[in-house]
Amino acid sequence: MTPVRVRFAPSPTGPLHIGGVRTALYNYLLAKKTGGTMILRIEDTDQTRFVPGAEEYIKEALEWIGITLDESPWHGGPHAPYRQSERKPMYMQYAMQLLESGNAYYAFDTSEELDEMRTRLEAAKVPDPKYNSISRMEMKNSITMPEDEVKAWLEAGKPYVIRLKVPRKEEVRINDLIRGWVMVHSSTLDDKVLMKSDGMPTYHLANVVDDYLMKITHVIRGEEWLPSAPTHVLLYKFLGWETSMPQFAHLPLLLKPDGNGKLSKRDGDMGGYPVFPIEWNDKATGAVFMGFRESGYLPEATLNFLSLLGWNPGTQEEIFSMEKLIETFTVERIGKSGSKFDIQKAKWFNQEYLKMMPNETMAAFLAAELKKKGVELESSKLVRICALLKERVMFLKDLPNEATYFYQTPTSYDAELWAAKWNDEAKLVATEWKKALETETNFVAEQIKHHIHDITEKNGIKMGKVMQAMRLAMTGVGAGPDLMQIIEIIGKVETLKRLGNVV
Ligand code: GLU
Repeated sequence: MTPVRVRFAPSPTGPLHIGGVRTALYNYLLAKKTGGTMILRIEDTDQTRFVPGAEEYIKEALEWIGITLDESPWHGGPHAPYRQSERKPMYMQYAMQLLESGNAYYAFDTSEELDEMRTRLEAAKVPDPKYNSISRMEMKNSITMPEDEVKAWLEAGKPYVIRLKVPRKEEVRINDLIRGWVMVHSSTLDDKVLMKSDGMPTYHLANVVDDYLMKITHVIRGEEWLPSAPTHVLLYKFLGWETSMPQFAHLPLLLKPDGNGKLSKRDGDMGGYPVFPIEWNDKATGAVFMGFRESGYLPEATLNFLSLLGWNPGTQEEIFSMEKLIETFTVERIGKSGSKFDIQKAKWFNQEYLKMMPNETMAAFLAAELKKKGVELESSKLVRICALLKERVMFLKDLPNEATYFYQTPTSYDAELWAAKWNDEAKLVATEWKKALETETNFVAEQIKHHIHDITEKNGIKMGKVMQAMRLAMTGVGAGPDLMQIIEIIGKVETLKRLGNVV
């Protein structure tokens, strides 16, 4: 079997959408699973859409999520260069080959003439006006013009493009690994431009030529490229490369959270969630687009979330590390239908990964964050705080805030809860508890609890009735992990101070 060679081929026209990261991931998984090669190629033939910084963004986003590349513009490789703009001189010979075999032609039409054609066809009620086997006969090209005139125009340096000569009646068949056989009639295709007047190839020609030259075995890409696939299949055929044509797999769309339509970059803005892997600052407009990274998602959680948007392992299992994905992934288990972008699920994954994070790792993060606030706590305490809070935070960045009462005496108390819970019984218990704790030499959760248990029992008060008031007095808030543990960590001196503040 020929070794698998896959490529991720983004265009640097803006920030890489999270769907693009999923495409890169599925390519990567297939490569790693089979011991194959993962290539990144920058498709920058459309210079008018080039956005500065986009390439660096792609690199950083892939690194963040843990996708490594074997060949790329940044790592080099046997098929360098990996930027299409740098490969410009390589494409013309293939366009010439197509011209010579009669599968492409020169077209000299100006943009006004192309507009006129469109208007003419629209007026004639042609449903989908295009430059094709019928309309080309009315246009200025090497099919309609006498040979010597074409030669003269070329010699005179008249601007021209080279177009694919799509056959009039032909069934184009694509065996897609996800969709099965897709049949398209050539009459629905247009004579795509292959070479532009500036001497740059278009996406279609460059993509096919490079996939061939780079010995790509599988093209895994978004469903939005399925309509281009028949053109690509024709190109492989006309260039005589049919036997080395890669296998295609067109990935299902990512849908809006409610399932209605394709996920767009505006959905994120409106819904307040990221649709980009990392933050993107649009230099042209000053707009900032949220990233998963900056929103607090761990790369492992983002990866796990993305892996299941379109692929499923065939079991109920949901937690997948990169290693496990490589082991389990198969293209056959990629679904045909679109996947809802359920951000709640992404949050759930983040929480799961936080739970799995070692307390020490979390504590190191917390220590660094607290240091910024001028707070220092013993590391053993930090580890315990993290053990208590890890189930309660959705994002790592919420941790310092969630931990406030461990390092700050409450200056205010939840007013509504205070009004509902702070009563004479609570005050009595707090007073007695403080007294008992003053003389306690073994200041541990068990002992602390033992005292309040005794006090409530002695006074005929149900412990459950005053516990929230005690929590309020100690932390200022109505919810949190086990109070006795909190008190033990806070320590005797500070506990007495806090109880003293309310009685
Ligand atoms: N350059 C195309 C893109 O921006 C690549 C499509 C393909 O993978 O063929 O997505």
